[in-house]
Amino acid sequence: MPSLPLDSSESLVSPPARARYLRSLRQLPQLSAGEQRELERVTREYAFRVSDYYLDLIDWSDPNDPIRRLIIPQLGELNEWGQLDASNEKAITVAKGVQHKYPHTVLLLCNEVCGGYCRYCFRKRLFMNDADETTRDVSEGIRYIAANPNVTNVLLTGGDPLMMSSRHLADIIGRLRAIPHVRIIRIGSKMPAFDPHRLLEDELLHTCLRKYSTARKRIYLMAHFDHPRELTDAAIDCIDAFIRDGVICVNQCPLLRGINDDPVVLSDLFRELSFIGCPPYYLFQGRPTAGNEPFRVPIVRAWFIFRDALRIGSGLARRARFVMSHATGKIELVGVDSRYIYARYHRAHDPALRGQFLRYERNDEAYWLDELTPAGDPAPAADEFPDTGAADGPE
Ligand code: SF4
Repeated sequence: MPSLPLDSSESLVSPPARARYLRSLRQLPQLSAGEQRELERVTREYAFRVSDYYLDLIDWSDPNDPIRRLIIPQLGELNEWGQLDASNEKAITVAKGVQHKYPHTVLLLCNEVCGGYCRYCFRKRLFMNDADETTRDVSEGIRYIAANPNVTNVLLTGGDPLMMSSRHLADIIGRLRAIPHVRIIRIGSKMPAFDPHRLLEDELLHTCLRKYSTARKRIYLMAHFDHPRELTDAAIDCIDAFIRDGVICVNQCPLLRGINDDPVVLSDLFRELSFIGCPPYYLFQGRPTAGNEPFRVPIVRAWFIFRDALRIGSGLARRARFVMSHATGKIELVGVDSRYIYARYHRAHDPALRGQFLRYERNDEAYWLDELTPAGDPAPAADEFPDTGAADGPE
């Protein structure tokens, strides 16, 4: 029988080989032997891992290349700064690998591996030798969620859930879908940036997503692109595949010095994300996590970068909220003038703080909420602003 003619859109090129993962700087010929030795001081403290696909995105002729800064260790990580658990996730951990901070949302930390280790990761403690906070056996978390009918949202995170075998992921999602009150399942992942081909070729993953992302109970991909150069053709195809599976895609990322702390870069990222159907959701002020000093952008500068980035693009490219994941809640930065910094609780652990407006003395050096001084007048309570939409009502 004659073979069927190929449609012009079909490729004659074989699919790319599976990405290779590297865990030692000695595997990077782009670094001199001296650089490898010097930077191993960093990797003895904070784990290193990268795919060869992602390495190929680096412009090695530029020592300040943003993709390089994101994934290749630097000595500044050893500067004394911050804490390993900067927003005290320990305090909201209700069982091993289970975090419950806001009434409707539970986090399951179900994997301790990522496709690469972002140098600025706020959970880098999970990748350290004595880490014991994640669990691939989510039975306890599933029991906890089943017993709490308020929980409508579950976020699978870690580590990266899309680094798990799809069989294991499908098992977790299937068990969550058996709990009637769980409406939204979110998957937090940087795999579309680190290794999109792996996701594109994973038929079982797509079968699972198509089965469990339904008209009334969606799966969301909380993608994590930090820089427009991560949006390669393969990454865009990967987002397209998720959308075709019925998954809603949005993006969240931190503001990072030397990576995306530029209104032009950030607006390019936001616009491209809106074009591909993965609009920006949160831009985070990076947590003051140990090892992350090289990525520090003070609040006031960060606010103006964010504001200027939002001046370009359609409404869909401007949907991000600029937030700080503080131990007390998710605080949205809403403005800066010559005297004050304005914020409000977008989410709060303590019900009394929900929707609370905040005003601080402007401090151009401050990085985190705890470094700010509240302005003299007490901030108005949420109920004086009935239209904030910020309180945690039923979902
Ligand atoms: S993908 Fe997320 S969890 Fe993994 S290293 Fe990067 S920031 Fe951390």
